[in-house]
Amino acid sequence: MTDTDVDVLVLGAGLSGLETALTLEDNGLRVRVLEGRQRVGGRLYTLTDIPGHPEVGGNTVSSAYGRVIAAGKRYGVDLEDVAPRYAAFPDPQELYVGGEHIPLDRWPSHPKNPFEGEFRALPPSAWGRTVLRRRREFTDLAAWHDAAHARYDRSVHDFLRGQGASDRAIALGYETNMPYGTESAHDVSTLQLAFVDHWQSINRGGAGAGERFVGVFRGGNQNLPIAMAKRLRGDLLLGRRVIAVQQGTDGVTVVCSDGSRHRARAVVCSIPFPVLRHVALDPLPPPAQWRAIQTLGAKPITQFHLVPRRPFWESDGLSPAFWTDGLAGSVLANRDGRDPRRVTSLTVWCSARNARFLDRFPRAEAARMVVAEIERLRPAARGALEVAAVHSWEQDPFAGGTWAIFRPGEVAGTAATMASPHGRMSFCGEHTAIAARGMEAAFESAERVSLEVLQQLA
Ligand SMILES: Cc1cc2nc3c(=O)[nH]c(=O)nc-3n(C[C@H](O)[C@H](O)[C@H](O)COP(=O)(O)OP(=O)(O)OC[C@H]3O[C@@H](n4cnc5c(N)ncnc54)[C@H](O)[C@@H]3O)c2cc1C
Repeated sequence: MTDTDVDVLVLGAGLSGLETALTLEDNGLRVRVLEGRQRVGGRLYTLTDIPGHPEVGGNTVSSAYGRVIAAGKRYGVDLEDVAPRYAAFPDPQELYVGGEHIPLDRWPSHPKNPFEGEFRALPPSAWGRTVLRRRREFTDLAAWHDAAHARYDRSVHDFLRGQGASDRAIALGYETNMPYGTESAHDVSTLQLAFVDHWQSINRGGAGAGERFVGVFRGGNQNLPIAMAKRLRGDLLLGRRVIAVQQGTDGVTVVCSDGSRHRARAVVCSIPFPVLRHVALDPLPPPAQWRAIQTLGAKPITQFHLVPRRPFWESDGLSPAFWTDGLAGSVLANRDGRDPRRVTSLTVWCSARNARFLDRFPRAEAARMVVAEIERLRPAARGALEVAAVHSWEQDPFAGGTWAIFRPGEVAGTAATMASPHGRMSFCGEHTAIAARGMEAAFESAERVSLEVLQQLA
């Protein structure tokens, strides 16, 4: 360690950390980035050794991702529109409930359909968000985090029950393969879900089918952070797991697990809260912020990447993609090679309870269970699937989950303050953004935190 090695230490080399570091450097500050992994990109991670280079993390960007689109141009990484490919090969998801294949045209009148009235026509994967959109109690969507809306900060479960939905309907139509929540509809706030739906609507932008923009960075999304890292002028130190941040009157010291110590005038932390709660902060942040660091949820997803040895879906005459209330969750087909007629791989998305259950087994055994489940549902797949990769985002020591989940009461209580500067320490990252989601949220947070630090050090 030397006395204030740099002006600013940035913790984490994901999108938000890298963009912050580059902005601060452009404004004349000396910056050092400390990254725990042996790679940059964080929750952007492309499997370059699997056909089609499937994504393990962030998949696609859309039309409202202005900052991400601009970053691609700025750092020289081409964004490819894959919407025409999706439109030409839509791979609709077959429906399996209780082990039974149910053709979608039979679903509205099927005895296993637990939905009521107009909602019976919806597949389970669309039910929760459609009920929320059609029966929305709350319209000030851009201000979802405002404490004035505290009365809507209740669980998605309570909201759906209030709309007359049965627990059976909620279990199948929301909690199965749920996009937002950690275990159940009880642990996610309706306010967050309303905002997510609003963000997705902005991204659809009223475009008709085929007009939507679905962007992926050429060669894999991790090429964006890789290109950003190359532009850094200061140090980017990989394999430096931050274990403590100590603030003094004249600077901040960051301690890493390899024993290295780094000093600066200020620190920007992009570490996701489920990981940050295991970092020793001295002094502790104020109580509300500390509580948020301790309790903010993150959605568990465990992915299985399967390469088909033969197109088994041609044997059973169904789509390669399917949705099930069983262990295999939601299975999507990727057509990412040169010839979009070829399915390059299948991604099995196991969420929430499924993910947590599978995470209790060694990876190879969990993969065997998932493949066995697929073969049980679709006998044509027997012997046709090779497991190429498995990744648990909740067990990932540098992520702790896929994206932030605000619990009931947490939005109005903490969303506006949890990213406030704490002395010389400022916070960025997807979880701290309020007007965007996903990769765009990472860039939004980098913009805010860069201004905070520039003001602080001016
Ligand atoms: C499965 C999945 C699918 C997704 N799909 C989409 C999508 O389709 N579209 C979209 O826009 N977004 C998507 N996202 C979200 C998007 O990837 C993230 O919002 C974004 O990449 C987050 O960037 P970040 O900088 O906030 O965090 P991160 O990328 O997590 O960066 C934080 C960095 O901190 C590092 N770190 C953590 N702990 C320590 C420590 N103790 N010491 C040092 N370094 C540490 C991490 O290794 C990481 O590099 C998805 C994410 C996942 C996981």
